[in-house]
Amino acid sequence: MASAAATARYEELRRLLIAAAHAYYVLDSPAMEDAVYDRLYRELLELEAANPGLISADSPSQRVGGSPAAGFQSVAHRIGLLSLDNAFNATELTNWYAKLLRVLELEPSTELALVGELKIDGNALALSYEAGVLVRAATRGDGESGEDITPNGRTIQSVPLRLHLDNPPAWVEVRGEAFIPDCTFAAINAERAGRNEALFANPRNACAGTLRQLNPQVVAARKLDFFAYTLHLPNGSDNPSSQWEALQWLKKAGFKVNPNTALLANLQAAEQFCSDWELKRQQLAYATDGVVLKLNELQLQAEAGFTQKAPRWAIALKYPAEEAPSRLLRLSCQV
Ligand code: NAD
Repeated sequence: MASAAATARYEELRRLLIAAAHAYYVLDSPAMEDAVYDRLYRELLELEAANPGLISADSPSQRVGGSPAAGFQSVAHRIGLLSLDNAFNATELTNWYAKLLRVLELEPSTELALVGELKIDGNALALSYEAGVLVRAATRGDGESGEDITPNGRTIQSVPLRLHLDNPPAWVEVRGEAFIPDCTFAAINAERAGRNEALFANPRNACAGTLRQLNPQVVAARKLDFFAYTLHLPNGSDNPSSQWEALQWLKKAGFKVNPNTALLANLQAAEQFCSDWELKRQQLAYATDGVVLKLNELQLQAEAGFTQKAPRWAIALKYPAEEAPSRLLRLSCQV
């Protein structure tokens, strides 16, 4: 049984994290730095691992993201949108890879190809196409259902309204990240300052608030952008067999795929990709908070499966919080 001190600390962490997640996901107004949230969340997970009896149904560890906000219709996702497990250093990355090999019952020396993608600090969107036509755009919400924000999704220029394919499948589900580039973010906040309105804390926050605007004209004026990274198709013999092929499929269909994505032959190449981007990301025109590594072969992904909240075949390596204002200054936005 958990000690009184552990129980009291657990209650405190649960209360703090639930309040922070509500401010972040529902009110679009974070009350705590992400790095602080991540640290407290880690502590909660460690307490839960040591004292499984403490885990309560409303623990932040038991769900993905936030509840759908009022004002939009809630919509069930055809395929759940999960979170990602995090690694904060090279050792945790190595541990993730070793565990993946154990789950797949492969020799510890096996080299698995991984796809390295930048972790764009925006908001996940689920786009549904029927007979090649965009019929719905939804936020992630709690992972099982999100908010139907279709009119807002349609304003994003990099979201194709019709797939660039001659014979599109009956349905296609595309997931990716909607985001606001730094210069656009600076311009939005400058305008808000001019009107004495509260400033958005960061581009991710501004993006979440914008996706939930009830007036699509306001959304269009904010010029969101979108990088696609996940593809779901009905069963078919010529479907992509790897994440890398899926990304090429998405490009052909008219989506923007982040150009800094790489096919990596093994864990060593993945580690190099992670350390390269820790510095190089400062030169990008949009915020990133890490790198996502995904097992390339879709068949192996299916074998590895999911935990309650996240795929076992992917990991987000999180970088220490960056100073967004310094990146904005370096890019010398014209505001
Ligand atoms: P996450 O941000 O750690 O990772 C999952 C998300 O990554 C996906 O939903 C997707 O939106 C995004 N993503 C970006 N690029 C991707 C790619 N190439 N492939 C796949 N996904 C990609 O997890 P989360 O569940 O969204 O949120 C947890 C994080 O939110 C925490 O780490 C914390 O930093 C932050 N948070 C902060 C507060 C706060 O109060 N500051 C509160 C709650 C959550």
